[in-house]
Amino acid sequence: MRHAGNLDPLTGVLNRRGFEEGAAQRFSDPRSQPLCLLLADIDRFKSINDSFGHPVGDEVLRNFAALLRQATRWSDLCARLGGEEFALLLCGCDAAGGAAFAERLRASVSAARFDALPEGWQVTASFGIAEARAGDNLAEVVARADAALYAAKKAGRNKVQQHAAVLA
Ligand code: GH3
Ligand code: MG
Ligand code: MG
Repeated sequence: MRHAGNLDPLTGVLNRRGFEEGAAQRFSDPRSQPLCLLLADIDRFKSINDSFGHPVGDEVLRNFAALLRQATRWSDLCARLGGEEFALLLCGCDAAGGAAFAERLRASVSAARFDALPEGWQVTASFGIAEARAGDNLAEVVARADAALYAAKKAGRNKVQQHAAVLA
């Protein structure tokens, strides 16, 4: 159910509470499995605020959220967890499918034109992916995706990293 208490007022995507509610429902439904969680964090977002001001940063967040939303299906979840960090829960998608999806999304973000920013300014994001395993709870999967996201940042940003590959 989408209602105001579940939505992020800035971007219109789900907020953390809405994400947790939607995810709980999908984790308990075998028809939604496999599930793949993607965390997406805009690279060097602070420098956008510092260079152009907070309202421009807000507009970039709205545009970024719209790109994520356009990329997802109706059964998937798209949420802003806070700041410039977003989560997608892909239903009926394993880690390999999630990695291919994230790679397309990464490329489309880096190629996108953000109207609030000067021509030639490139926005990129880093992505961490984790597949949910049977018996997982959301917090465990988020923690794995977060470790992968951290590795993507460390590897130089504008990258997709899968959790299994972090452990390898
Ligand atoms: P990294 O590549 O490591 O992710 O660097 P970063 O600059 O993106 O990350 P950092 O966590 O250093 O900075 C995030 C910034 O996002 C800092 C904070 O002021 C800004 N921010 C958080 N929420 C909002 C918001 O709602 N609007 C705007 N404009 N800025 C926000
Ligand atoms: Mg960031
Ligand atoms: Mg961040």
